[in-house]
Amino acid sequence: MSEMFVGIDLGGTNIKIGLFDSALELIRKTSVSTQADMGPDVVIGKMAETVERLLVDADLPLADVAAVGIGTPGPANYSEGVIIKSTNMPTFKNVPICQMLNEKLGKPIVFDNDANVACWGEYAVGAGKGVKDMVFFTLGTGIGGGIISNGELVHGCAENAAELGHMIIYPDGRKCNCGQRGCVEAYASADSTARRATEAIEAGAESSLKKLLDEKGRITSKDIYEHLASGDKLAKEIADGTAKALAITCINMLHTTEPKRIVFAGGMIAAGDVLLNRIQDYFDEQIWTLKKEPVEICFATLGEDAGIIGAAALARHTKGPGR
Ligand SMILES: [Zn+2]
Repeated sequence: MSEMFVGIDLGGTNIKIGLFDSALELIRKTSVSTQADMGPDVVIGKMAETVERLLVDADLPLADVAAVGIGTPGPANYSEGVIIKSTNMPTFKNVPICQMLNEKLGKPIVFDNDANVACWGEYAVGAGKGVKDMVFFTLGTGIGGGIISNGELVHGCAENAAELGHMIIYPDGRKCNCGQRGCVEAYASADSTARRATEAIEAGAESSLKKLLDEKGRITSKDIYEHLASGDKLAKEIADGTAKALAITCINMLHTTEPKRIVFAGGMIAAGDVLLNRIQDYFDEQIWTLKKEPVEICFATLGEDAGIIGAAALARHTKGPGR
């Protein structure tokens, strides 16, 4: 076997680990519970043991692993490999994760936030393959982002670049969890999409979603797209609001880094063409007419393994220029 790469997706609940060949084809993967309450020593020890077990199961030597990549939610000091703190893992404070894992595995360890890692995965082998400039959004509880400019992730002076969910699109608009007003995340994340519908129903709007809200006590973005498909007017209004917010954000990003491709990921892309086509419609309606931009708006293709693929791809990238 030629050289291999390990990708680790460190989350608050589970640690997913994948072993990849040099073409980033998955050889074997596993998932173990994080047990963050046991503290960083135990968690990082478990990461190392799981990597070693994967190699034994695949009958491959640790010597063939060239590098290991890790993705995890921030904030962190990525260039120094230190998790500053973590809302999902409260025991992790100023943890030099790269150094600690390197001491156990003896391999170069590369580390970045989970959105950047997923972005890099799509860039290397997914929806961004073949381009050098890409913007990435992940639509979940919040909105995460990643920017690739001329073949490199953009990190910024203090490594907090590409917090694209907190781009203000409606000044004095809805309050965001971050404290600002009018962030795209306050309109178009899965949670905000559901919340806007809930608020409209509570304010008296007619909708087939009302019965669901009364019965379950909550509605989700998935419910909204289902009711949109069956012709509910409020569901259409809410989904249009989400698509419009995302289209404005795409236009702003186009004028910032001029990506060739804008990729959406996350649970909400399960809505399918009805979401993508509305984003494209609003984008086409509102984009300037000065010059036709060659940007393509599309959905991610890597699915739930994006975290481990991206981490392995980032590890491979550290071995030299290229994807
Ligand atoms: Zn915000």
